[in-house]
Amino acid sequence: MAKYIFVTGGVTSSLGKGIIAASLAKLLQARGLRVTIQKFDPYINVDPGTLNPYEHGECYVTEDGAETDLDLGHYERFLNIYTSQANNVTTGRIYQHVINREREGAFLGKTVQVVPHITDEIKRRMLLLGQNNQYDIVITELGGTVGDIESLPYVEAVRQLQWELPDEDLLVVHLTLIPYLKAAKELKTKPTQHSVRMLSENGVFPDVIVCRSEEPLNDDIKRKIALFCNVKPEAVIEAPDANTIYEVPLLMLNEQLDLIVLKKLNITEFAEPDLTRWKGFLDKLKYPKAKITIGLIGKYVELQDAYKSILEAFIHAGAMNECKVQVVPIHSESLTPENVAEKLINLDGLLVAPGFGHRGIEGKITAVQFARETGLPFFGICLGMQMAVIEFGRNILGIKDAHSTEMQPDTEGAVINMMEEQKKITQKGGTMRLGAYPCTIKEGTLAHKIYGTTQITERHRHRYEFNNEYLEAYEGAGMVASGRNPETGLVEIVELPNHPYFIGCQYHPELKSTVEAPHPLFVHFVAASRQFHDRKAQRANKVNEAV
Ligand code: GLN
Repeated sequence: MAKYIFVTGGVTSSLGKGIIAASLAKLLQARGLRVTIQKFDPYINVDPGTLNPYEHGECYVTEDGAETDLDLGHYERFLNIYTSQANNVTTGRIYQHVINREREGAFLGKTVQVVPHITDEIKRRMLLLGQNNQYDIVITELGGTVGDIESLPYVEAVRQLQWELPDEDLLVVHLTLIPYLKAAKELKTKPTQHSVRMLSENGVFPDVIVCRSEEPLNDDIKRKIALFCNVKPEAVIEAPDANTIYEVPLLMLNEQLDLIVLKKLNITEFAEPDLTRWKGFLDKLKYPKAKITIGLIGKYVELQDAYKSILEAFIHAGAMNECKVQVVPIHSESLTPENVAEKLINLDGLLVAPGFGHRGIEGKITAVQFARETGLPFFGICLGMQMAVIEFGRNILGIKDAHSTEMQPDTEGAVINMMEEQKKITQKGGTMRLGAYPCTIKEGTLAHKIYGTTQITERHRHRYEFNNEYLEAYEGAGMVASGRNPETGLVEIVELPNHPYFIGCQYHPELKSTVEAPHPLFVHFVAASRQFHDRKAQRANKVNEAV
């Protein structure tokens, strides 16, 4: 049987529960334990797949095709393991299951209620991953903040488990904020006291309090929190702001969070933490030898979380190249043929982002054209690849109406078309082509050089694809389909061999980049951008010398 750790949050949202949970998991993993993390979200959507990125940030996709919360991305990036459908549960999914069972007659004669039916289903799912001896520890992050109406059934489920499981098999970590009041020059513990009290009123008693704070906590403050919140002083953990989320495991190691947890869970067999690779990554991240600027062309650029996995993949690939990657968000709607040169001239690489719908499309196409014509390294992901195909169709093949039927259903030049199997689908939720699919790479192509193999699998989230009726024309004119699905022939990768670096993929490589295994497409794109940067600098030097 696995042991269970629950991570709750108090006082305010956005304290970084996911990062604390992932950091604790990392430390336990580094000590030789088998760990996984799951997230329980209190909203009623069955999954975040239909949510606008403005509402919920990026939708993260797992190997098995679950559309999930972006915290699962952090779990995978920190732990270098795959998560699955079972690792993200929402209130919507819980209710859907219970209501389906009610319709089947599973509760005949009974009134179906939040307690026990909903809480039973929550508990069943909380324990699920720990049941087939795959993991020693299952960490569950509870979304939302203690005190929210919608979080109550989850807190109640944890309360019940506190009684049902042996004491040493369950632990609760509560993450709170200790605000610093400038006027009083003081750290304030009252919000934490209140949030722990609220948790205790619901019958859940935290074992560890992790305190986010912009100022260091002194021993007096720690003692006070311990006293009022009913935990041992050593179980009050300080979590200061970090320069990067990847430092948090080391900060938690310093605070001995892992040791406190191991002690309470009565785990006696564990190794010294092996964080060699992690620290190696951090060193490279902290002391880069060069700096490059990548433009990220998207339509949700004002929101950091909308492209979370892409930004993180650049951090991994940057460290691998010992190069700081500054990602400059550029709103696709702001780009026109008139201003594109001025807006993109200082870039060393251009990434056109995934997305849906019509808004900002022409700006993306304009950006692709600029990169294709000037030799600027280009990387298109999903919609970004589709835009590269449209641009090539319009400007090289002379297909005036080249478009995607997503934006223009009746276009004469449907170079991007809805996938055949998608045409029958009417329901929106969970019905895209999702998750891992194989791709065969053509030998001798850039993609082959990057991956070093001809067989890969990558994760997807789309309804549209390259229209293979045009394939011959494209390849004849110099755009090569270097990766295709072995069964259906669906084009997965396109590239331009006579461009210094131009590659687009229908899948989402960013979802598989981790600290310990940066994604090769990002690593090579950063390397190409760095070369571009160096060549530009050399040219500028020559001009200066000549003057
Ligand atoms: N909207 C496009 C499609 O559905 C691209 C999707 C994406 O970028 N994730 O095919």
